[in-house]
Amino acid sequence: MVTTENRPRTVHESLVEVISLGGRRAVVTGAGSGIGRAAAVVLAKAGASVLALDINEEGLSETKAAALRVSELGFDVETVDVSDYGAIESVLSDESLDIVVNSAGIMAPDSLATTTGHDWDRVLAVNLTGYFNVLKAAVPRLNRPGSVIQISSMMGHIGIAFPAYTATKGAILALSRQLAGELGPDGVRVNSVSPGMVLTGMTRDNLSDDDQRDHVAGRTPLRTVGTPEDIANAVLYLASDLSAFVTGTDILIDGGLTSALAL
Ligand code: NAP
Repeated sequence: MVTTENRPRTVHESLVEVISLGGRRAVVTGAGSGIGRAAAVVLAKAGASVLALDINEEGLSETKAAALRVSELGFDVETVDVSDYGAIESVLSDESLDIVVNSAGIMAPDSLATTTGHDWDRVLAVNLTGYFNVLKAAVPRLNRPGSVIQISSMMGHIGIAFPAYTATKGAILALSRQLAGELGPDGVRVNSVSPGMVLTGMTRDNLSDDDQRDHVAGRTPLRTVGTPEDIANAVLYLASDLSAFVTGTDILIDGGLTSALAL
């Protein structure tokens, strides 16, 4: 059990000591692109050995190349579908983990009228059951203290976007809070990060268009869209001992978009 006596000290001699993840093992899903890729790379840069998972083999190769440019430590990749529990269990079977990042996700841009039952099931299978599958297989293999970071979305906080996608993101916020209570006494912290509009594979079609990007940026107090690294920096904080007293919380990173009503 982690107590006030044995938890990591908050006074450090150097910044490297504060942020170092040396000796820790992290699994990151959705690591073949966007936020998952940036998270996997920054964790590797901070000294963690990383197991990067994604359904996209080519994307994983690019992530590995990026990681090897900043770290000489172990960086493993496995192509896997997070909605397949058996495959996740098999990939994690020999792992001894310290950090889990759930980021693999898909979008289904439709209204209630046009969302089919198939769309609904597909989005829930990846964005909600996929997260559950990884938690179910990874948490028993987590060393204590351990840290779980779940990528939700600003869509989980406010009434915009699309029925299936938004529902999964709200569910991840609730699941993360519930698990923080369940797993905290056993030394596992569980937090979420809620990105705003970030330029990734998921948003490329929208945000690559200059007008669309300017439209979003113009309504954002910080007058820009986010980068995957903006989100990965919060993942790094939640993975590190800097957040040793942080659990059950969400970090909303949206440039202020949801704080200001852009009438
Ligand atoms: P992204 O660039 O599309 O990355 C998502 C990755 O997950 C892709 O490599 C994707 O592969 C992979 N993936 C999809 N289905 C999978 C499955 N069944 N099993 C394993 N991997 C799978 O999108 P992103 O923006 O980085 O998204 C990461 C997370 O951030 C998601 O949970 C998303 O909902 C959340 N988020 C993003 C934004 C944003 O503005 N970008 C905002 C809020 C929240 P494919 O490319 O082959 O599909």
